[in-house]
Parts: sequence; C-alpha cells; structure tokens
Amino acid sequence: MNDYLVKAYAFGGTVRLYGARTTDLVEMARTIHDTFPAATAAFGRALTAAAIMGAMYKGDQTLTIRIDGGGPIGGIVVTTNPQGEVRGYVGNPHVHGSTNDGKLAVGFVVGHNGFIHVTKDLNVKNIFTSSAELQTGEIAEDFTYYFTMSEQIPSAVGLGVLVENDNSVLAAGGFILQVMPGASAEVLDRIETNIKAMRPVSEMIQSGFSPEQIVAEITGGDHEIVETIELKYFCDCTRDRFSAGIVALGKQEIEEMVAEGHPIETVCHFCGKKHHFSVKDLQTMLAFAEKPRLS
Ligand code: ZN
Repeated sequence: MNDYLVKAYAFGGTVRLYGARTTDLVEMARTIHDTFPAATAAFGRALTAAAIMGAMYKGDQTLTIRIDGGGPIGGIVVTTNPQGEVRGYVGNPHVHGSTNDGKLAVGFVVGHNGFIHVTKDLNVKNIFTSSAELQTGEIAEDFTYYFTMSEQIPSAVGLGVLVENDNSVLAAGGFILQVMPGASAEVLDRIETNIKAMRPVSEMIQSGFSPEQIVAEITGGDHEIVETIELKYFCDCTRDRFSAGIVALGKQEIEEMVAEGHPIETVCHFCGKKHHFSVKDLQTMLAFAEKPRLS
C-alpha cells in the first residue's frame, strides 16, 4: 500500500473527515533528517497533520506549519500543498525520550510552552498566519485546539507514528474530523463513542488498515469518499532558488565571499540537497546583486 489520504463526507454531509496513511513519507523524512525515535514520532505526526491540511485547500496554495513548544526538539517546520506534497525539518533531530509506560515522549521533546502557527500562502499576494497556544505538545491535541479556537471548527484529530527497534518507521497515519454546522447531537455522540472504541491510528495502519477503513471505523460506514490524494515527501528546491538567495544577500556580502576565494556550498533545510557555487559563479551573481542601501 502506498501513502495516500481520502476525504469523506459523513452523516449527510454534516461531518467532513480525512483519513491518511503516511508511513513511507515519514520514513523518508527520518532518513533525510536522521531523527531519533521520539523526534521521528513528533515530526511524523506534524507531517501527517500537514499532509491532511494541504488537502483542505486548492490550486497552488501552500501551507506552512510551525510548532514551537520550547522543548529539546527546538521547533518543527512543515510545508504542504493540495497536491499531497509535504516536506519539513526540525531544529534538533537527535533528541529522544520515553515516558514511564515505554511510549515515545512526544510531548516532552516538543514542549508545550509556545504556539502552533499556520501560514496560508494564497498565491503570494495574500499571506495569513493564525496561531494557537500549544496544549500538550503531543501534536494531535494541539491541532484539535488550533482548529477549534483559530478556525472555529469543532474537530477531532488522531495522529500516530510507530517506530521500529532499528529506528525505522513501522507505521504512520492519522485522521482529522471536522464538524459542520447542522450536525446533530446524536451524530456527535456516535462519533465520540466510535473514536473511543478505536485502537490507536498507528496500530491500525500497522495491521494493514487503509485510510478508507480508518474513516469507516469513525463513521460506522455512514459516509461517502469524495477524494483520494497520493501523499509523498517532496522538495522542489532548485539551484536557481539558492542562487537567488545568495544574490539577495547583497553586493558587499558577495564581494567578501569572492575575496575569500572559496566556493560556496548551500544545503537545503528540507531535503538535504547540496548545491555548489564556484568563485566564478559568485562573480557572475555580483552583476545581479544590489548595493547595500544607505539609511
Ligand atoms: Zn530541498
């Protein structure tokens, strides 16, 4: 099974529900960033939530989610789009911790003294950021609170990542449920009962549950799947973009680099890809760079 998500309308359209399998993309993220298990779980939950949130938008919009809880992981950044492409990085991938009952200590590594920020870039011209205080640092609770408080949509969020003994990702996935106006109290009761009776999402994925089956566990079958989107870890960074980044540093900075006479290497935060720029490249860039403005 590949990574994908499904979007469903349930209970006569009064509930919108997404279910996702993200095992491969979280494993890809772990390999690129060399995250230790608790960091993998935290990062994986954030990547999964982001992948699902991307599906709530259309076209060439992008979404950036920053989670800054003051914990040892030092912040998580994830970006996503409606095409199911996600990428991200964490401040410190080499953090680990377990709780007393042997679970990965996600809340501890993330921390809960801080905020979750969601920035929507709607075709460059309009950028909106909305924020909510972190509740536990366990990510799912934090997104639930974010949707309810910042977007005024009563929600339920489940996210899970299982990490193998060799540190690789065994299973990852999640669901986001949003209650639309008009949902009856009886429907809400049914959802609550079904979610309480469910096994953790990561266990369901591990035992072979598809996103469709996760959705069905929550609705009891009273839903219609309206969309399926493949999910993948994907970074669209290019040499040109890094080149533009160097140009933006300004004439003086580049002149200093040229004077030092060493080639420059840039590393992408998101995918680890390296780009090299020779002294000759830097000299070419000088022609495009602006002189520092005197203020
Ligand atoms: Zn990249």
